[in-house]
Amino acid sequence: MLGRMMHQPLLISALIEHAGRYHGATEVVSVATTGGIERATWAEVAAHARRLGSALMQMGLHQSDRCATIAWNNRRHLEIYFGVAGAGFVCHTINPRLAPEQLIYVINHAEDKVLFIDRTFLPIAAKLAPHLKTLRAVVLMGPRDDEAAAMVPDLLFYDEFIAGGDPAFRWPDLAETSPSSLCYTSGTTGHPKGVLYTHRSTVLHSLGGNQPDGLALRAADTVMPVVPMFHVNAWGVPYIAAGVGCKLVLPGPGLDGASLVKLIDGEAVTLALGVPTIWMGLLAALEESGSKAPSLTRTVVGGSALPPSMIPAFRDTYGVDLIHAWGMTETSPLGTLNQLLQKHQALDDDAKANIRLGQGRPPFGVELRLVDAQGHELPCDGVTQGELQIRGHWIVDSYFKAGHSALTIDGWFDTGDVATIDADGYMIIRDRSKDIIKSGGEWISTVELENIAIGHPAVANAAAIAAHHPKWDERPVVVVVKAQGAEVTEAELLAFYGGKVPHWQVPDKVIFVPSLPLGGTGKVLKNKLREEYGNVLMPAEGDAEA
Ligand code: AMP
Repeated sequence: MLGRMMHQPLLISALIEHAGRYHGATEVVSVATTGGIERATWAEVAAHARRLGSALMQMGLHQSDRCATIAWNNRRHLEIYFGVAGAGFVCHTINPRLAPEQLIYVINHAEDKVLFIDRTFLPIAAKLAPHLKTLRAVVLMGPRDDEAAAMVPDLLFYDEFIAGGDPAFRWPDLAETSPSSLCYTSGTTGHPKGVLYTHRSTVLHSLGGNQPDGLALRAADTVMPVVPMFHVNAWGVPYIAAGVGCKLVLPGPGLDGASLVKLIDGEAVTLALGVPTIWMGLLAALEESGSKAPSLTRTVVGGSALPPSMIPAFRDTYGVDLIHAWGMTETSPLGTLNQLLQKHQALDDDAKANIRLGQGRPPFGVELRLVDAQGHELPCDGVTQGELQIRGHWIVDSYFKAGHSALTIDGWFDTGDVATIDADGYMIIRDRSKDIIKSGGEWISTVELENIAIGHPAVANAAAIAAHHPKWDERPVVVVVKAQGAEVTEAELLAFYGGKVPHWQVPDKVIFVPSLPLGGTGKVLKNKLREEYGNVLMPAEGDAEA
């Protein structure tokens, strides 16, 4: 027997239709690639998305054909998110910081038919074009531009392209399991792998991730995703914002602290989302400008571990609630968010902050577990560390074109992170399994060692790595960038670890460097550091004779 309720597929087109119809006058503010601020409304974005969908249909694309973007967070990019997916195609967002050979790889692997690019990335497109086998059109995200036209043969212009589309276009009825967007992982080794999201997974992620204990966005909010739209769909914020019809601020190319302060204050942003490095820049710029960011009530921080000093820094001076979140490309990305339970309400601020330093709990729709190397489930006691696995409605099943499952035999996805989970479900990432330091059979968390170093006032940034060791197999070495104008010695920094970790976890060596190598999404490339410094504790050749 079946139930007797309406069945409507969960489609991305329904999100933008809702925003256009019920929140049509609400603003979408966007910083143009040229720097100026553009104002539009959800009604305009919805109409443009329909025009775009219809123009792509007129081009003769087939259902599920991929359309790529190399672009900042801006209004046209938003329209492409909805227009491409809504019309039954797949929006493939590309990280412009990938190496040229990786860009060529992902575009050819995805078999992209159309490439939408911002003006900034025109030189990249011109250079790559001869290597791209499946492209039928390159579309510059702007009005006609003769200088640009001279750089890329047959270049189309977004504003002209959508002008030929139908603003009354009716979105096709699609199966909710059809693909809607595609992101490649920023993998540090091997080829990037594609995660192909569905309409259903995207809509459920929007609903599940926006619960009151999740992002908690509502119509009265003004949200600014600083996280790029090429990084796991800007953590789903464009879809969530359309679903609730809040004001959306898209910061364009200027992600420095000063530009963000100006936008937060100028547009009265209530919630902003980004990686910790962005918020370090913002905190410095706030201090410099003297602004107290009065509109900002909360920030969501994720993508890499949260430096412990950041919660009180936002809380005490700006009254901003910092929500720590964890996720990955394979998890859409929201896997956990850190909010407190009723029993925590009576705690003092520091005790609350201590709980909120962890990565948090899964929202309804995903589940977590820990396993050992043999795949046996481990206890959730807050102490036992294990491989973190996840399953749920918005978790990858297999990589794009892989032809085999990405899951364990019993249907869980292995995240590659090492974590603890406590009895209430609060998860703490201890490390990436490939980064963790295995010293004499014991594990040492690089995250913990880094947090301590970053807590030293003379340290701007730090990365802990495993270095080969003749006796212990691996020992910790910490690679440190000093704060501008600050001085600290190796001995002082090592002494700073005293009492903060067991003595056998104190690093064997500190290496001072001018900067840390960063990958495409701003994460430290620890494999590069291991290549460079992995042997610093090994006896140099010839030492034995000496
Ligand atoms: P990506 O797929 O590029 O977004 O990378 C996902 C990985 O980033 C995760 O597996 C974690 O190792 C790391 N990550 C994401 N969020 C956090 C967080 N809040 N704390 C620590 N690591 C994180």
